[in-house]
Amino acid sequence: MTAPMRPVIGDTLAPHVTVHRLWEAPDQPATIRALAPRIRGVATSTLFGRVDAALFDALPQLEIVASFGVGYDNVDVAAAAARGIIVTHTPGVLDDEVADLTVGLLLATIRRIPQADRYLRDGRWPEANFPLSPTLRGRRIGIVGLGRIGKAVARRLAAFDVAIAYHGRSRQPVDYPYFPTIVGLAAACDVLIILAPGGDGTRHLVDAAVLAALGADGILVNVARGSLVDEAALVAALASGTILAAGLDVYADEPRVPADLAALPNTVLLPHIASGSAATRDAMGRLVADNLIAWFKTGRPLTSVPETARLVR
Ligand code: NDP
Repeated sequence: MTAPMRPVIGDTLAPHVTVHRLWEAPDQPATIRALAPRIRGVATSTLFGRVDAALFDALPQLEIVASFGVGYDNVDVAAAAARGIIVTHTPGVLDDEVADLTVGLLLATIRRIPQADRYLRDGRWPEANFPLSPTLRGRRIGIVGLGRIGKAVARRLAAFDVAIAYHGRSRQPVDYPYFPTIVGLAAACDVLIILAPGGDGTRHLVDAAVLAALGADGILVNVARGSLVDEAALVAALASGTILAAGLDVYADEPRVPADLAALPNTVLLPHIASGSAATRDAMGRLVADNLIAWFKTGRPLTSVPETARLVR
């Protein structure tokens, strides 16, 4: 294990394999060198740094990397696939938790729930009522990345009686209107919810042009990865009134959040907590361990990422 993760991972693995905890080693490079001939699997987390070719080269017996999280932009999957190393992630078990948080963040941003809480705690209510907020009523919601979590968000939002549309690289067999470009979706909507994967293919997908198309009443909600949004363009759009507000769970350089973003009154900022309930993080942890156990017992991991699925016998 490269980093401290939920205890359920080590507990589930313990009867099956020997677990080495890299972060406990006083000299990590020396520990990796000493253990290299015996390490066949790595458990890592999207929350802790990159796993790349340097680690793969240091571990010549490595067969599998089990990553904690459904997004795996922290793992160099191309380098893994080139070396015949399987990469697994944790899809599915967090969809409902992340979708719940996404809807909560959307409502918090539109109705300014954290700002109202601060207003009350600051003792300002006796002076005057909290200012009226914008509304979700009548809004058109655009989902960028209608995958497992995007669909779970759409199902929840249907109960709010709002119009839903989506953008992705391909049209899907769903009833929501499809937009082949993100600018087209942004122009047709006044809420944009980002739920596509991070990584090089989606870097700065949300740029100044998309924010301008979203418009002065527009709300951006990003629960995917910070790399998808041009943060400098977002700060400028929020400060100038090009868009109305933003609710963010993820940032380009976590855990550092630009001071400009935090200084704006029209942002709701969460510290990457979308899957962060104890129950869901344990479900993710069990899937990390079960992938490793399944691989070593049967040669078939449970949830390989698509890029290494062809390596599975
Ligand atoms: P899925 O793979 O099920 O869905 C991803 C969607 O994104 C697909 O509909 C895909 O459609 C679309 N997509 C992929 N590439 C692009 C692109 N270049 N442009 C536009 N759309 C694209 O993933 P999940 O729903 O399971 O997870 C989505 C992401 O959410 C994860 O990758 C992760 O980074 C993030 N996440 C964040 C969490 C947090 O704590 N904040 C927690 C969990 C997930 P198509 O193939 O048609 O393009």
